[in-house]
Amino acid sequence: LNVTLANIPTTIFTVMSSLAVEHNSVNLGQGFPDDEGPDAMKKIAGEALMQFHNQYPPMMGIPELRQAVAKHSEREQGIPVDWASEVLITVGATEGIAAAFLGLINPGDEVIFLDPCYDSYATMAKMAGAVVKPVKLSLPDFKLPREELAAAFSPSTKLILLNSPHNPSGKVFDIEELKFIADLCIKHDVLVLSDEVYEHLVFGNQKHISIRSLSGMKERTLRLGSAGKTFSFTSWKVGWMTGPAVILAPITKAHQFMVFTVASSLQRAVAHGLDNEKDFYRSLGLSLERKRSLLEPRLQALGFKTVPTYGAYFVMADISNFLREGETDEMFAKRLTIEAGVTTIPISGFYLSPNPPKHLVRFCFCKEDAKLHAACDRLESYF
Ligand code: PMP
Ligand code: GLN
Repeated sequence: LNVTLANIPTTIFTVMSSLAVEHNSVNLGQGFPDDEGPDAMKKIAGEALMQFHNQYPPMMGIPELRQAVAKHSEREQGIPVDWASEVLITVGATEGIAAAFLGLINPGDEVIFLDPCYDSYATMAKMAGAVVKPVKLSLPDFKLPREELAAAFSPSTKLILLNSPHNPSGKVFDIEELKFIADLCIKHDVLVLSDEVYEHLVFGNQKHISIRSLSGMKERTLRLGSAGKTFSFTSWKVGWMTGPAVILAPITKAHQFMVFTVASSLQRAVAHGLDNEKDFYRSLGLSLERKRSLLEPRLQALGFKTVPTYGAYFVMADISNFLREGETDEMFAKRLTIEAGVTTIPISGFYLSPNPPKHLVRFCFCKEDAKLHAACDRLESYF
């Protein structure tokens, strides 16, 4: 079939999760938590279904949820938001990302991405006609390469995508890095699509700072959140975007023709969660820190070099000690699933630049303790 998308590979998450099922492997690959969010939210969603909240809700989202998102923005990041014109409810952050590119990009506009990055970004940007400009974060600890980033801006740059806390590395960008990016965006009049789905998943004395909260950035930043991450309900696919009304308006046009709206029962439950389940999302960091400390020392003892990061639920591991002659990260990850019974995500597919590193895999640790222990036991007997 002569269509561009036919040549795009199936996402690595699907590839590795299917292989994990096939080989009965402990799946520390795809990021989804074993511990689900508050029962009260499930109950509200169920009751809403039974109370006839089953017809098209408003296109931008139900007022209760848009109000809850606006309050959450002000409460957690000190960013005031007008709920009626500056909040869009989306089908997960994924739809928000797609709608932002489709709504904002004119063919030929350049978009800057920091490599490695989540796999939906660049393909969606290209579908909207963007020219992709990747800038590699510096290894081993994913530092912002300031000179390379400054050099990537051009008169055609429309937007930069920033993801902090960062998937796949777990890095939380610090205030100096955020200010550096913000200054470049102001200087070159560039928009920021700020993917903050892991905003509450930080630990080890780190603090998540939204780039939208910095001086001069509110008017040029779109901020994304997700109930999948904030409440550990990844199947619900409820997300939110906040941003200036004039920038949100064209994005809303893309949203109205892609999906029009989002299940109202789930919107009701998420509104309740943002307003009333602060203890849940504020405790996620501590529980993730404990889980990371179950996994990381055992990986290190085996010979994986890990990068100390304090956000999201991923630990990056250098597999150089284990790679066989000519073996790539993807081949290694498949071998580990099939032969050791432990699944990870190889990272080279998260790179847009040529010559990606092929010595990194990502372990996800938002899993039951028993699974983390079982994975380490299996790795210890395999290596
Ligand atoms: N952005 C990042 C960085 C992610 O890791 C994910 C993971 N699913 C998403 C966006 C998508 O979020 P959602 O499930 O709400 O669509
Ligand atoms: N965000 C999750 C991850 O990075 C899952 C993404 C997906 O399955 N599309 O693992």
